Amino acid sequence: MKFGTKALHSGIEPDPSTGAIMTPIFQTSTYVQERPGVNKGFEYARTKNPTRSALEKNIASLENAKFGRCFASGMSATETVIKTLRPGDEVVCTSDLYGGSFRLFSKLFSEFGIKFSFINMSDPTKILDCISNKTKLVWLETPTNPMMSIIDISAICKIAHNHGAKVAVDNTFASPYLQNPLDQGADIVMHSVTKYIAGHSDVIMGFLGTNDIDLDDKFGFIQNSSGAVPGPQDCFLTLRGIKTLHLRMQRHCENGEVIAKYLKKHRKVDKVFWPGFKDHPNHEIAKKQMRGFGGMISFIQKEDTVEKAKNTLSKFKLFSLAESLGGVESLVGHPASMTHASIPREKRLAEGLTDSLIRLSVGIEDVEDLISDLDQAIN
Ligand SMILES: *Cc1c(COP(=O)(O)O)cnc(C)c1O
Repeated sequence: MKFGTKALHSGIEPDPSTGAIMTPIFQTSTYVQERPGVNKGFEYARTKNPTRSALEKNIASLENAKFGRCFASGMSATETVIKTLRPGDEVVCTSDLYGGSFRLFSKLFSEFGIKFSFINMSDPTKILDCISNKTKLVWLETPTNPMMSIIDISAICKIAHNHGAKVAVDNTFASPYLQNPLDQGADIVMHSVTKYIAGHSDVIMGFLGTNDIDLDDKFGFIQNSSGAVPGPQDCFLTLRGIKTLHLRMQRHCENGEVIAKYLKKHRKVDKVFWPGFKDHPNHEIAKKQMRGFGGMISFIQKEDTVEKAKNTLSKFKLFSLAESLGGVESLVGHPASMTHASIPREKRLAEGLTDSLIRLSVGIEDVEDLISDLDQAIN
């Protein structure tokens, strides 16, 4: 099946007890057993829930993954991957990383004897500087947040696999509609389902997909032992959201392109970061591994001060000033004070994330209205 058909049908069966076409919300904590050890495949809802199982199969199919598991948040999915490691193991990560992942790695798991190094992977060979025989995992995001750098997934996988390390890709920004990391050689794909996949700014959820049964067994053990599972109501909302993922993404991409080009021509705008531009440093790699360039855009105004950024941010009427991304409505954010506040300033500046950088999550509204809003805010 092609993507849109899979979004609607993969993992979804009419409910056997009633024929209900929509997967029911199995709001139950436990399941009655006939005799000890004799049950219908469900014992306790931390371990398994039918609404969650349908969703896990559905997202796995969108990522061309044999196995998929959902978690209570993107961070708990990420945490599950790190919990497969042991003290003394090392992880090499992208430097331009989601702030919450940076915090989890550098402030929490580093206290448990796991070593993290952060490096710009725009040139994949740079990871050789950090890789050692203790490196068990390479963790990357592409496009990166918020600089929209593109990392060559298959090139990183070749280097990492040569050194016996697994590769995990946080695919939140691209969504499975635009990019499938497992097809590029990655071992693990992770999502903050909260963003494009659920798509309606009403759910917090995470996902891990893999084709490696041993890894999936470990994820399942941790999912059940630690218990960071999503509730059935959230699974239902996400199943509903996914039914339009392909339509939403198509519009996010169309609107994103119009807005990126508009900003690039604006006399008050200095730089625009969007992988669809021919002069984006890794545009050719984006073309190779993505099926479109998405609706995430960052820009810096010529007047590159916090004051100017705050001024512009307070003037938006349609773009809402909020953390998060990937919902149907357009959002605007100020990474330096919001999503990336937990990253030290020098580290931010080294990545080009200046104090005034503004990030847009372009929604699916009529693009003319979005342009008018940007115009009045910037001017
Ligand atoms: C939001 C986000 C996360 C964290 O996901 P939650 O669902 O908020 O826990 C991780 N990575 C990226 C790229 C994100 O945007």
